[in-house]
Amino acid sequence: MKIQNFINGQFYDPISNEWIDNYCPASGEVYGKIPNASKADVENAYIAAQSAFPSWSQTTLEERSRILIKISELLEANLQQFAEAESKDNGKPISLAKSVDIPRASSNFRFFGNAITQFASESHDSIGQQAINYTLRRPIGVVGCISPWNLPLYLFTWKIAPALAAGNCVVAKPSEVTPMTACLLGNICNEAGLPAGVLNIVHGLGSTTGQAIIEHPDIKAISFTGGTKTGAHIAKIAAPMFKKLSLELGGKNPNLIFADCDYKDMLKTTVRSSFANQGQICLCGSRIFVESSIYDTFKADFIAQVKQLKVGHPSETSTDIGALVSEPHLDKVLQYINTAKQEHGKILCGGHRTIVKGYENGYYLEPTVIEVDTNDCTINQEEIFGPVVSIMPFNTEDEVLQMANMVKYGLSASIWTNDLKRTIRLSNQLQTGIVWVNTWMMRDLRTPFGGIKASGIGREGGFEALRFFTEPKNVCIKY
Ligand code: NDP
Repeated sequence: MKIQNFINGQFYDPISNEWIDNYCPASGEVYGKIPNASKADVENAYIAAQSAFPSWSQTTLEERSRILIKISELLEANLQQFAEAESKDNGKPISLAKSVDIPRASSNFRFFGNAITQFASESHDSIGQQAINYTLRRPIGVVGCISPWNLPLYLFTWKIAPALAAGNCVVAKPSEVTPMTACLLGNICNEAGLPAGVLNIVHGLGSTTGQAIIEHPDIKAISFTGGTKTGAHIAKIAAPMFKKLSLELGGKNPNLIFADCDYKDMLKTTVRSSFANQGQICLCGSRIFVESSIYDTFKADFIAQVKQLKVGHPSETSTDIGALVSEPHLDKVLQYINTAKQEHGKILCGGHRTIVKGYENGYYLEPTVIEVDTNDCTINQEEIFGPVVSIMPFNTEDEVLQMANMVKYGLSASIWTNDLKRTIRLSNQLQTGIVWVNTWMMRDLRTPFGGIKASGIGREGGFEALRFFTEPKNVCIKY
């Protein structure tokens, strides 16, 4: 099956006729080809976007909103087709694609379709100076959206929906590892009546297609989600061109578990926050710190629960853990497990590549729990982005706070306690963009989303996203 670039409302082969193999992670087989779009394809996408901009930016908010909500409805109506495509392309369990990925992609369009009708700008009455200021919020023009493979359509639309709602035209690139649902989205946009050229989707390698987007002199803003290294590379290129940048990067998120928490709730959620989507979520809690008095109990119960998780083919509804996204990624995760062993980490369960019968070449890995005795070890400092977590005990609040913050990342943290004062103390001091208390990954799309330190700059979500995708212009009138 061949995927094509979506430019000006139509599907095209890449000009260079260069194609990349698309692998099915569950079987390890090549099942399609995708374009490796070149600078020339990106230029065509840009021209289409630029031509569509004058009209789209002047389209009424009601009309933009109506079209985005229509896209949302069509995604809902095609849930099964999209979920199957996502699961096949990424290796994630179909149950997850059906209950999380595609519904959330649909919600992204519905949410920003509604949010734009409520978005307001400010006015400042300059009392005593006989003047009034008002601020316009105008779309930027043509913007670039680049997203990763872990939550393909979910994160792709998390950028595209606010960009379009705010009146921009978009050149977007999904990860070359998971292009399928982005390609299907093109058809849905046409069916929903999104004018040609407003959204253009180009496929290809980061180093080719992604690079052409970030280097384009007239693409004025880049919204990127992906690895920290790639984010730094993008920032280097974009900064001298004064592009607006939003970077959502990696995480090494701590769970701080205190003895006074609701134990059953904590245990169940911690299994999920460790292994959901094969641990390939930037928000996964990959460093688990447990108060000493309950450490042994937690260790035994946690391992017992992890051993119950079923690694299986993504299309089976009983599967908890599907395949990792690619063979190179599986190798990278295995490498981290080896490093942990060399650094005296104790493998409490898992640790090996595993085979699912009938799919011997698939990229499956046992969910892995490693006991460590220091937060300085490699697996507590570097992002693994797979089904691997570390556990270690702590004695005091100060000690665990220090360990939680002693890492280059600062995306999210989860605190498990029923002590209100401690909750507030820790929430104030944790160096992360997001803190969850007695929960994990509970999302309200109005809230600011993103990290600090090496986890990125800027925030997505709610009006933060609409602010990013607009330029404020102040008008001062003396009367
Ligand atoms: P990468 O950084 O490798 O890639 C992300 C995207 O950038 C892909 O579309 C990739 O293309 C593209 N890209 C790569 N090189 C360039 C370049 N030179 N110029 C422009 N674009 C480029 O990340 P992964 O896809 O491996 O995703 C995993 C990472 O994403 C993890 O570190 C994870 O933490 C992070 N992430 C962060 C989230 C957050 O919100 N903070 C959420 C989800 C993931 P291609 O794949 O085709 O090479």
